[in-house]
This record gives sequence, C-alpha cells and structure tokens, in this order.
Amino acid sequence: MAYDLLVKNGRIIDGSGMPAFVGDVAVRNGKIVEMGKLSGSATRTIDATGMVVAPGFIDNHCHYDAQVLWDPLCSFSCYHGSTTVIFGNCSLGLAPAKPADRERLAGMLSYVEAIPMEVLAAGVSWNWTTFPDYMHVVEQHLGVNAGMLIPHSAVRYYAMGEASQEDQRAATSAQLAAMQQAIREGLEAGALGMSITRNRNHFDIEGRRISGACAPEDELFAVVDVLRQVGTGVLQCGGGGAVEIKDRLVSRLSAACGRRIMYNTITQNARAPEEWATHLALVEETCKAGNQAMPLCTPNQIKQRFSLHNCQTFRGLEHWHPILISTDDAKMRAYSDPQVRKTLRADLDALGGTNPVFSKRWDLMYIEAPTLPQHQAMRGKTVAQIAAEQGKDPLDAFLDLGVAEHLDTVFVLTEINVEPEAVAKILTSPYTIVGLSDGGAHVQFDSGVAFSTRLLGYWVREQQIMSLEEAIRQITFVSASAFGIYDRGLLRPGLAADLVVFDADTIAPSQEDIVHDFPNNGWRIRERAEGIAYTIVNGTVLMEQGQPTGTLPGQVLRNALCMA
Ligand SMILES: [Zn+2]
Repeated sequence: MAYDLLVKNGRIIDGSGMPAFVGDVAVRNGKIVEMGKLSGSATRTIDATGMVVAPGFIDNHCHYDAQVLWDPLCSFSCYHGSTTVIFGNCSLGLAPAKPADRERLAGMLSYVEAIPMEVLAAGVSWNWTTFPDYMHVVEQHLGVNAGMLIPHSAVRYYAMGEASQEDQRAATSAQLAAMQQAIREGLEAGALGMSITRNRNHFDIEGRRISGACAPEDELFAVVDVLRQVGTGVLQCGGGGAVEIKDRLVSRLSAACGRRIMYNTITQNARAPEEWATHLALVEETCKAGNQAMPLCTPNQIKQRFSLHNCQTFRGLEHWHPILISTDDAKMRAYSDPQVRKTLRADLDALGGTNPVFSKRWDLMYIEAPTLPQHQAMRGKTVAQIAAEQGKDPLDAFLDLGVAEHLDTVFVLTEINVEPEAVAKILTSPYTIVGLSDGGAHVQFDSGVAFSTRLLGYWVREQQIMSLEEAIRQITFVSASAFGIYDRGLLRPGLAADLVVFDADTIAPSQEDIVHDFPNNGWRIRERAEGIAYTIVNGTVLMEQGQPTGTLPGQVLRNALCMA
C-alpha cells in the first residue's frame, strides 16, 4: 500500500484520552488511512522516534478576520501546533459589509482587538459583500484550516447602519429579517455558527459602543433562533461571564435555540478573588441540567503592559480618569502634585475587595523596563518590592518612578490566572473549554497563541495537573467537538490528517520579541515555540522545525449540515 505520508515510530496520542502507544500514522489524499505498525511505502516518511504524534491543535478563539487576508498561516498560532483557527468571535468581523460599512467595521475590530487602523487600511482588500463571499475570498489562500463564526456586530451594522450603534435601539421588523437572512446565508455556506457579545466596554475607534453590544436582549434571542431554524451551528458570546453570573442569559440563549454556546470567560482574577469558584459551580449545575453553555478558559496569565502614557488600568475612577486622557505635560504635573496624589489614593482606597478595576495587589505589578541607568536594578521587581525597599507607599513609589522617567517606564500588571491551584481547577474541569488564545488580537500588547505549548509544557510537564493524553484531548477532540468540527480532533482513519509532531520534554513557548512584518510596516509581538518538529495540515507539512514550508494546504471548515 503506497501512502503520501508516513509518520513512523512516534508515541501516538490520538486525542481521545486513551493511553499513548508507539506506532506509525499513514496519510493519503489528506486523510488518515491507518495507524499502528505499518510497512507500506510512502512519498514522504517522517521519523518521529521519541516524539509525540497528536492531532493538530484547535485554536478556538481568534481574531484573524483581517490578518488571514495577508498572512494565510495566521501566525503565530501554527507555530504552537495549531492546525485550525476559529475567528469571527465576540461579534466582530469583516462580513457582511456593504462598501459604506467597511471603515466602521474596521474601526470596531481595530479598537476592541487593538489592531492598528493603518495596518487594516493597507492589508484588507474588501472584495466581498456577503459572509459567503468573504468565506470564498479567505479560502483562496489559506495555510491553516479556518472555522468562521458570523459576527453579530457586522450583521447588525449591515442591516441597521448608524442606528445599530445607538444603545438599546430596537431593530425594525424589516431590519431584523435582514439580520436573520444574513445569518441564514452564512450558515448555509458552512459557517460554524455565529458570535454575539454582551461586553459593554467594547467601543469602536471613535468611541461609539460596538453594534452587537447595543442590541437589546430580545434581539439576541431572535438572531440565535436562526441556528435552531437551520438546525446547525454553535454560538460564541463575548463578555458572557458577567451576564451568565447575573441572570443566566447565556444558558437561556442556549436553551432557547438548542445549540451549544461557548462564552468568555472563566478566569481566576485578583480583582474578584472568590468569583471563579462560584462561577464554576454554576457552570457545573448548568451542564448537569443538560444545557450546553460552557465558558472558555486559558492556561495563560493575562497581562496588561502599559506606561503612564497609555495606562488604562485606572480608567473610570473619578480623579484618575481626567488625568489618563490628558496630555503628557498635564500628566507629569498631576502625578507630581502631592495634593492630586491624595485624591488618587482616595480613589483606590474606595475600591472594594471585589471590583472590576484594580485589585490593589501592587505585588502583581512588575517593572518590566525602567529607562534610566540608575533604575536598572528595579527591572523585574514588583512595585510592592521597590516600595518596601524605598520605605514608601506603593502608589508613591509607582508614580515617583513614572515621573522620574517622564512616563516612559514600562509596567506589567498580571492580575488574571495568578493562583496556580485555582487555575488548575478551572483547566481540569470537564465543564470548561481550554483555548482562548485571542490570536490576531492586541498584537502590540500581549500574545496568547502559546495556550497549547504552555498547557503542555508548564501545566502538564512541570505542574502535572493532568496527563499528557488528557491535555491533548482537551485541545483537540474536546475543542473540535465543542465547535462542531467533526472530521478533526482525533487520529482515526477517515478523518483529516491534521497532525503535530513534538517533543514532550521540551515543548514550551519561546521568549517573545518584536517583528515588523505587518502591512504598512506595522509591528507586532512575535511568540514562537520550542519542541515542535512538524505541523501537518490536511496531510501536507505546513511547518518544519519552526519554519513555514511555503505550502498552503488549509481549508475553510464547514458545519455538519454542509459536510453531510
Ligand atoms: Zn474575542
């Protein structure tokens, strides 16, 4: 029997959770044909001795809607073993779009996901109108597999124009019918589902709330009902955690349309130390009652990197807010003024133990890059540490340093997923979905694409919170199943040959650096991985020893109705 590709002598972990075994995986015409001890000839043979051979990982929460148009690999997800990326999340995307809508949709994606407008202006071709047209454009030039969600903000803007960004403005019956029609068309073309949002803090580049967040609740029930009518697809809800905890909106939506909904997010958060445990208990209760409303979670810590030029940490606080949006000169004067500092301290003192702004945990705020020579010893220390060393109040130590360095000091605040025991409970829960890389988003602030290599390196190898087989099951079979991708996520004859070959002893994220490879010479954070030998998409080697091979074997993934 002749194969196209034979991966020999690997430790096969098939994604089901079953124990690893040593053997070969054979591929023909983009599909797995057999596994075990195989002897046929092959056009290409890869020796995987000592390596794990697993299904390609599913990067289930991304914002590559624009990037995919100039970067068909959707880097850097595939550098971490992901062979499938899912985008169109959090209600945001670039289709459907009439010519007059383009600037506005770009402005929503740019601000919420922090992708510079100049990059979008130079990199997005806009040669589509409907969602099926957009799917077709993406499919022409694709390195990884792409699953797409129809974004409610785009659909709402398409149907209502400017009025879609008026808070709580109800759609007319004609507008609602236009939205439902656009969603139906997308599902019939194969979209994996649709995305909505309840995040009230998502605005476009000019400060208007994004259209999906303006929709009244009853509209959400009307638009997600299209999934029930068509009988396929999944839902994703940005900002779902708060509304689920408040009044179970997410699970009510899921129950109403009878489809699975994945929502953002469950984390351990120092700003609300007890919330993760009550949230997890609520999710367990929901799932046990037979409802498919599940939160996404991440193995990553979530970081805010900022200076006193662009600090958003204290936004909304009475005395901080006007300073944060003032000029640099005004900031320098305010932060130096002892009287002003009294008011800033009073704002922080007034924050309760659970609040959405700041945990007051100065031991979680790091000095990443001091600028002056005499401050270099502070690099990597926390504000709490330098305050203790200087015998100062932490707020004074923080502002003194920022003022001395003319606001240029780079700080990193890490308040999310910092208690390992809590994070381990979240990651190992059967009621959460691991992923949430946000790939393609906030490209100059924080990279989350290492969710897979961090799970396998840090959480499995170092912390041993679960077996390697279980971790792989989470980021392959579970994620594929959750998002309705039924021909991937397992190694099994007949399924697509998406594979990753890696060294379980060394797999890990690499140190981040900066690269200028975006349109219009835009820069972004680059995060690569250690220990991944091959990433194989539809039977073709996409990445070899950390380098792209130049092939474009990716496919647009389609929902079950379109596959049948
Ligand atoms: Zn998102």
